[in-house]
Amino acid sequence: MSKLAPGSTIGILGGGQLGRMLATAAARLGFDVAVYADEPDSPASRVAAKTIIANYLDSAALTEFARRVDVVTTEFENVPAETAEALLETGVRVAPSPNALAIAQDRFDEKSFFASMNIATPAFAAFASQGELESALAKIGVPAILKTRRLGYDGRGQIRITNAKEAEGAYDKLGAPGILEGWCAFEREVSIIAARGQDGAIAYYDLCENEHADGILSRTVLPARVEETVVDQARAAAQAVLESFDYVGVLTIEFFVLPAGVLVANEMAPRVHNSGHWTIEGALTSQFEQHIRAVAGWPLGPTTRIADIDMANLIGDDAARWPELAADPTARLHLYGKRDARAGRKMGHVTRLKFR
Ligand code: AMP
Repeated sequence: MSKLAPGSTIGILGGGQLGRMLATAAARLGFDVAVYADEPDSPASRVAAKTIIANYLDSAALTEFARRVDVVTTEFENVPAETAEALLETGVRVAPSPNALAIAQDRFDEKSFFASMNIATPAFAAFASQGELESALAKIGVPAILKTRRLGYDGRGQIRITNAKEAEGAYDKLGAPGILEGWCAFEREVSIIAARGQDGAIAYYDLCENEHADGILSRTVLPARVEETVVDQARAAAQAVLESFDYVGVLTIEFFVLPAGVLVANEMAPRVHNSGHWTIEGALTSQFEQHIRAVAGWPLGPTTRIADIDMANLIGDDAARWPELAADPTARLHLYGKRDARAGRKMGHVTRLKFR
């Protein structure tokens, strides 16, 4: 496909903060953005040229959206498969490929996919009943972690268990279908953010080191404290995944680093990622601009990191610290314009750059 000219419209499914930052990056390159969201007043729609507010399964609204945009991309992975199908039927370009979205939506399919690509994962087994959970426990042992197969994010829909009794309680709470994973006593968590252009070129950002609290990303630092071989493994995994989907756009894979530099993949996000927010100030091309470049058929930009990074999420009430953060010359403050600061909700982030 030819390059989209400035003035073209990029359609984004989803109205959250990732959509907001994608829209801002798109505007900088002269594109208009149309957001499709299922509720009004979303963080993304407030910075977009157009918004369609409708259910993700409303085929008339999806057809109208497709008519108004030159390419459709997404800012969240739980886009129903029917939505992607309805869009593809209109003939509009959709990037990245809905196949990648479909696999990333289901934790069992995702881990099976990694395994099929020879990318190591924690031990895992799917279960659809209490009996199957018992067999999974017999195979994997404890400690382990029970997760819903679908629709889990930010630590929701998962419970750590240390014995069979706890497994029963967790089953009653989460239900089936689920996935049981062996607990990984990791040294640290890292993520690789990479992009693939329409011409097949791939660009990697430096490896991110991530800290989670209650399953939610709280902090990302760079450089990650790992050996070069860990970076090589992460890049090789990203390359394999990108190429297997003929992927266009930014993709993220999160990993656990086990002792002796063994890397195991936890999950992938077929989109820009919270652990890449530092790229707005810390890299020559932000992950958001990179994604827009890719889906618009433009060449990828340089991913060079210009400083050491400390990015902290502002979760729930943390955002009330904005006056102090606004006055701190070391803090690059981002607020997502969300109306209420519910506990566990990502309200903004702060990036600090350290030049050596
Ligand atoms: P997830 O929603 O799968 O990304 O999990 C959220 C966080 O829970 C991860 O970033 C880890 O900190 C922790 N976690 C998830 N799965 C495992 C596992 N198999 N072993 C150890 N920690 C895990």
